Amino acid sequence: MLYGALEAGGTKMICAVGNENGRILDQSVISTSTPDETMPAIIEYFKARLDPSLPDDEKIQALGIACFGPVDVRKDSKTYGNILNTPKIAWRNFPMLKTLKDALGDIPVGFDTDVNGSLLGEATWGAAKGLSDAVYITIGTGIGMGAISAGHPVHGMLHPEAGHLIMSRVPGDDYKGHCPSHGACFEGMASGPAIEDRWGKPAKELADKPEVWELEAKYIAQALTDILLTLSPQKIILGGGVMEQSQLFSLVRKYVLEYVNDYIDTKQLRNINNFISPAALNGNQGIMGALKLAATA
Ligand code: ADP
Ligand code: ZN
Repeated sequence: MLYGALEAGGTKMICAVGNENGRILDQSVISTSTPDETMPAIIEYFKARLDPSLPDDEKIQALGIACFGPVDVRKDSKTYGNILNTPKIAWRNFPMLKTLKDALGDIPVGFDTDVNGSLLGEATWGAAKGLSDAVYITIGTGIGMGAISAGHPVHGMLHPEAGHLIMSRVPGDDYKGHCPSHGACFEGMASGPAIEDRWGKPAKELADKPEVWELEAKYIAQALTDILLTLSPQKIILGGGVMEQSQLFSLVRKYVLEYVNDYIDTKQLRNINNFISPAALNGNQGIMGALKLAATA
């Protein structure tokens, strides 16, 4: 069976068609500008896969949307499927789900955050396959976390926003923090733009500066420790541009163990290389997660 999948990001929109096995059969990338410019191109892509003249087995049967946030994921809400107070002004309060439903007619549509989508992809076909409780954290322009608990994406009053956990300052670090709302939160201290602001160069150009990654790892490990103590995941997957610095993984693991300080003893913490790991789907976790959202819808 064919499904449509949309990974809606702040810089690009990935539209794809795939099947129930997570195989992507076609893909198109549209850069994100304003809804007026971007949405017609997305609609055109999926409409072509719903053309009544197509045989049924060439038509998409449902659509999955994994969307940048914050978004309203509460199904009983009047604004379900809307993008909320994003810093991308043109998209603030934009009814993403409704716009696509209105344009595409009567097909089931699944909707979740981009990070829950990535985690769903990893939990179905990747690094968290078979696990009931896991988290996915992206460390890039922003920091976001998706979580599944007892097999279900965590929503609740909104959805997790663990990118804004308040950090304890590492002794000797006086950087004010980059988050307009909190200053020194996780995103404010450890996102790509925070690294650039703190050290005066893009993160990528700091690869040979061990002090950058020591400090970065301490903030990531602080957040991961709070998250693992709170949600008790069986696995923590780290993705996003900043984690391209693969030396971060061993540093983060070391500091997580240091901060947990033997307070808990689990097989996961004893096997920390597996517990804290990169995504396994090579950058396709988001779009494959959207495919899974479609299949579930
Ligand atoms: P986004 O978060 O916008 O979806 P990314 O996950 O690619 O996109 O994150 C972009 C951020 O990651 C930028 O701030 C950039 O500085 C940082 N980044 C990208 N590539 C690298 C790299 N190789 N090493 C360190 N930081 C990187
Ligand atoms: Zn913040």
